[in-house]
Amino acid sequence: MKAFELLRPTNVEAAAGVLGDGALLKAGGVDVLDRLKERVDEPDRVVSLVDLGADHTSVARDGDAIRIGAGATLATMAASDLLPASLREAAEQAASRQIRNLATLGGNLCQHTRCGYYRLKSFPCLKRGDDTCPVLADGAVQETAGIFGNRPCACAHPSSLAPALGTAEAVLHVVGADGSREIAFADLWAQPVKGRASDTVLAPTDVISHVVLAPRDAAAGWRVAHEEIRQKAAFDWPLVSCAVALRAAQGKVAQASVWLGAVAPTPVRSTAAEAALTGKPLDEAVAAKAGEAAVGEATPLDGTRYKVQLVKVAVRRALEKAWGRA
Ligand SMILES: Cc1cc2nc3c(=O)[nH]c(=O)nc-3n(C[C@H](O)[C@H](O)[C@H](O)COP(=O)(O)OP(=O)(O)OC[C@H]3O[C@@H](n4cnc5c(N)ncnc54)[C@H](O)[C@@H]3O)c2cc1C
Repeated sequence: MKAFELLRPTNVEAAAGVLGDGALLKAGGVDVLDRLKERVDEPDRVVSLVDLGADHTSVARDGDAIRIGAGATLATMAASDLLPASLREAAEQAASRQIRNLATLGGNLCQHTRCGYYRLKSFPCLKRGDDTCPVLADGAVQETAGIFGNRPCACAHPSSLAPALGTAEAVLHVVGADGSREIAFADLWAQPVKGRASDTVLAPTDVISHVVLAPRDAAAGWRVAHEEIRQKAAFDWPLVSCAVALRAAQGKVAQASVWLGAVAPTPVRSTAAEAALTGKPLDEAVAAKAGEAAVGEATPLDGTRYKVQLVKVAVRRALEKAWGRA
């Protein structure tokens, strides 16, 4: 690891003010420390958010909505009754207990891909500035890659929290060089381009201060769930994940939101699955059709064909779990 200067600002504005060339933002550090050790990043200054205080780390009501500080840990989120069950489920299944105690909401969304080729500097990587994505080459290790939008880079987005935040129409509050602004969750994501490691539209001087979720109350007919499929039960990322929010009215799905994780360079909203659900009572056949619709535009690689079936299963399970929460 290259030596760096450690800065510990005490508010978000001050953090944004010291970011920029040669600086790297660190929250829990689970991803950042790996990248520093792997020398994927070699900053001169590391800006730690550890001293930002309780507003940055807590979950609270904000009128009808819920406000989550970007520094809230996955453990805090998993334990919060204020959050939709889908988000709690995603948080409590991620990684290990030790990691959930460190890893934060902001870091989880902005963590870089876990693609082994990105992490190992001895391989070329489009995100690190090379011309090609080695995952697309014959004989590459492809099993954890994506099945949608996999050109020019086939990585899969690693965040377990992202799909549930998508279904809650999260709005990110961001402080940057030009002041603060809001970014709708769906607008946070950037498709891969040569030389950009980040999967978001955030500038290097941007800091997410907090995230606000739209209400998903059961009293208003909302039923939510998160499902994921893993190779092993712990200490690993999901192979695929799915979060759903369904608003039920008169026994039918009046409104549906379906988001997928670990299937593309960014989280994916499945409007095709949503259309297959809307206006119908949710039974086994409708759930299966929504799963089929979700993979209608999949373009799997040889090594990721199995993920097409996993997505169908994850979507069906998430829908049945949510609907069963009447
Ligand atoms: C063994 C293992 C298993 C794991 N399993 C899972 C899993 O199942 N699901 C899952 O989702 N993740 C998993 N992870 C990844 C882990 O959850 C993430 O690395 C962690 O959530 C990152 O959070 P952090 O606070 O440590 O971020 P950091 O490492 O501090 O930062 C990560 C990135 O986010 C940026 N960042 C951090 N905070 C902000 C902010 N407020 N505003 C703007 N940018 C910010 C940083 O600059 C950096 O680029 C696993 C990790 C390990 C090691």
